[in-house]
Amino acid sequence: MATNRTFTMIKPDAVSNGHIGAILNDIIAAGFKIIAMKYTSLTAETAGQFYAVHAERPFYGELVSFMSSGPIVAAILEKDNAVEDFRKLIGATDPSKAEPGTIRNKYAKSIDANAVHGSDSDENAEIEGRFFFNAFERH
Ligand code: UDP
Repeated sequence: MATNRTFTMIKPDAVSNGHIGAILNDIIAAGFKIIAMKYTSLTAETAGQFYAVHAERPFYGELVSFMSSGPIVAAILEKDNAVEDFRKLIGATDPSKAEPGTIRNKYAKSIDANAVHGSDSDENAEIEGRFFFNAFERH
């Protein structure tokens, strides 16, 4: 199983604010290779499944509703140390605490609408990539 991959989504806020191109530029400039990518949307049901791990957290309902509010871009990315390096590139969950130059610092406005998702472990990167892409697409 590859451990040099991570999974990302450009979230509905960043898509609707016109940041897809800039965010993809930052991702590529940071050395990530795009393995698979699609422009799509989540329904309340599929967003609920994707974020099932957060089902008991107080923000779950709002998170599901936000993530199903408009189109997203889902992608599998490859780079040495992908999960950790991508988490550094996106910055803290709360954009007001994200380091200058990070994607959330540059493109996110709030802790809920925070522009991008990045997997938090190799195991979750694999699970999340499989959620969006079939075996053929993940080559
Ligand atoms: N989130 C939220 N309110 C919070 C914490 C998180 O709406 O107080 C949302 C936010 O969109 C975040 C997602 O839930 O990206 C998942 O939370 P997590 O703590 O896993 O943060 P991440 O790994 O995305 O930085």
